[in-house]
Amino acid sequence: MTDDGLGSRLRRRMDRLYPICRSISGDGLRATLEIIAEELDIDRHRVPSGTKVFDWTIDDEWNVRDAYIARLDGSRVIDFAEHNLHLVSYSTPIDAVLSMAELRPHLHTLPDHPDWIPYRTSYYTRNWGFCLSQDQLDGMRDDAYRVVVDSTIGHGFLDYGELAIPGERPDEVLFSAHVCHPSLANDNLTGIAIAIELAEYLLSLPSRRLSYRFIFAPGTIGSLTWLSLNPSVWPRIAVGLVLTGLGGDGRLVYKRTRAGNAYVDRCVGNVVRRFDGEVRDYSPYGYDERQYNAVGFSLPVGRLSRTPHNEYPEYHTSADDLSFVNGAQLEESFSAVRQVVSVLERDDTFRNLNPFGEPQLGARGLYPSTGGKAATDAVMAMLWVLGYADDAHSLLDVSSLSGLDFATIADAAEALEAAALLVRIRP
Ligand code: ZN
Repeated sequence: MTDDGLGSRLRRRMDRLYPICRSISGDGLRATLEIIAEELDIDRHRVPSGTKVFDWTIDDEWNVRDAYIARLDGSRVIDFAEHNLHLVSYSTPIDAVLSMAELRPHLHTLPDHPDWIPYRTSYYTRNWGFCLSQDQLDGMRDDAYRVVVDSTIGHGFLDYGELAIPGERPDEVLFSAHVCHPSLANDNLTGIAIAIELAEYLLSLPSRRLSYRFIFAPGTIGSLTWLSLNPSVWPRIAVGLVLTGLGGDGRLVYKRTRAGNAYVDRCVGNVVRRFDGEVRDYSPYGYDERQYNAVGFSLPVGRLSRTPHNEYPEYHTSADDLSFVNGAQLEESFSAVRQVVSVLERDDTFRNLNPFGEPQLGARGLYPSTGGKAATDAVMAMLWVLGYADDAHSLLDVSSLSGLDFATIADAAEALEAAALLVRIRP
C-alpha cells in the first residue's frame, strides 16, 4: 500500500533540517533536536563537556557566527553563509591576512568533481580550514586574502535526544540515527526523517508487544555517551538498527551484527530480500553500529542503509543535497523498516494440533473463494505454516524457508489458529 503523503512528509522534514549547520555539539545540534521535538516528545539530554565517556572525553562545544575568505577590498570569495560545508567543522577562530601560500594548506577541494564542495571535520585536532569547489579555488588568483573564522570552542554540552515507547514486554528495540552532519541530505537527514516517521507510526498503534527506543545523537561520541549513561538498558536490547543513508537510487543494504546470526539479522535480512536488497557481513567500520557491537556491549544492532556511505561519489560532498533523495526512495525505505516492526510484533512459534498429515482445509472453510496469486499464496502459506509448526520454527523462519513474505505467512497462521489447527507456543 502506498501513502500519498508519506514521501512528501519525509521530504519536508529533510527540507527543514537541511540548512542547519550541525556538528557533534553546539547550537545547530540543539536546533535539530528542537525540530525533532516539535513532532516527537523526545527527552533532551545534555552532558557537559569534559565528561569522560569510556576512552573518550566529551569535547568543548563549537559554535560559528561567521566565516569567510575575502579579497583585500572586502569582497567575500568563500562564505560560510552561502554553504555551511565551506567551513571545516570545529574550525578554530582566526582573523588574519594570509598569503595564498600560507592559506593553501587550509583549503580542501575535490579536483575530480570541480563544482562540488567536500565535507571535512577536525573534531579532535584543533585546526581551521575551508572547503570549496575546485572551480572556486582556480578563481583565487590574488596574492593574499583576509581569512575570518568567527567561532567559539569552549565549555558547553553534548546534546542528544531519546524517546522510549513502552510496550507489553520490557524487551527493547533500539533505533539509532546520527544527527551531527551539516547540509548533507542522504547522510544523515534521511535517517532522522525516517526515524521520526517510524516513532510516530509506533505511537499510533493501539498496542505494542515490544518496547521501543529511539536515539538521536551525534555520531560516535553521542552513541557512546548514551551507552555510558544507560548500562541498565543494555541487557534489554533485543534488536537494534542504525538508520542512515536511506535515500539515493541504490538498493537497500542491511549490514549484519558482529555476531551475524542475531534475531535482527534474520528479521531484517528477510525483509530486505523482499526488496531485492543486499545483506552484508559486519565490519568494524561505518556508523554507530560499530559502537553498539563493540565487544564490551555486543549489542545486536545492525544497520539499514539504501546507498551506504563511501559507495557513491556524492558522499560527504555538497552533491549529497536534497536533489539526491526523492520521495519514492524514502517511502520504500520506510516501508522496509515498518515491515521489520511488523515481523517483530507478529512473529511467534506454533504447534500443529493436527500433525498427522495434512488437515482438510476445505472442510474448515480455509480455501479462498477467489483465485489469483494472492489466493494461491494464502493456501501455500497455510501449507508452509502447518509444515513447520513443530515448536522449533518461528513464522519468520517459515517466511524465509518458503520465500513468501512474512505478512502472508502471519495471516495464514492467524487463520489456522482461528480454525484451531495451531496453538501459539512461544513468541
Ligand atoms: Zn557521514
